[in-house]
Amino acid sequence: MNNDIKKVLFSEQDIEEGILKLASKLNEDYKDKNPLFVGLLKGVIPFIGDLTKKIECFCEIDYIRVRSYEGKTPSGTLNLSGYVPDVKGKDVIIVDDILDTGNTTNKIKKLFINAGAKSVKICVLLNKPEGRLVEIEPDYYCFDTPNEFVVGYGLDFNQKYRNLPYIGVLKEEVYER
Ligand code: 5GP
Ligand code: MG
Repeated sequence: MNNDIKKVLFSEQDIEEGILKLASKLNEDYKDKNPLFVGLLKGVIPFIGDLTKKIECFCEIDYIRVRSYEGKTPSGTLNLSGYVPDVKGKDVIIVDDILDTGNTTNKIKKLFINAGAKSVKICVLLNKPEGRLVEIEPDYYCFDTPNEFVVGYGLDFNQKYRNLPYIGVLKEEVYER
């Protein structure tokens, strides 16, 4: 599997340090609140796990299932399947692996605002500013990443590579298999 990786963009240590910094900002901003973290499945799993372990206030953690990619091509439509948590009156933090076009997060943010959330913030591990198609910025993020398709640490290509402990770019030949 590691042989499929062309280059590593963020090492395990980079990610650990980035998350520590991010958590300390959240701990400051939410010290008198009880936020609800809502992770977007499935890519968010390693990130939300590592992040919330460093959160010091009482908080809730929930998930919604979204799917926006086919292979490495955005499908253009947002598929929300199943249950949506009750966000009424809550300080919601939407957590995702990466903010790319912004379509997914933008739609979910609107959904939560319409459902009566008290506040809605966006927290991602990676920010891909060049990919943006809608006007939305992360309130919290660890790293800017170039406009390349990345895998690892939750991020997949056709459901593979999520278990890599670092984030990297695949060799071209992997897409031709
Ligand atoms: P957005 O709606 O902001 O374009 O995309 C968000 C979702 O697209 C992310 O949750 C992630 O699942 C997927 N995505 C965007 N860029 C990448 C990428 O470079 N690699 C992978 N594996 N998924 C991506
Ligand atoms: Mg995702």
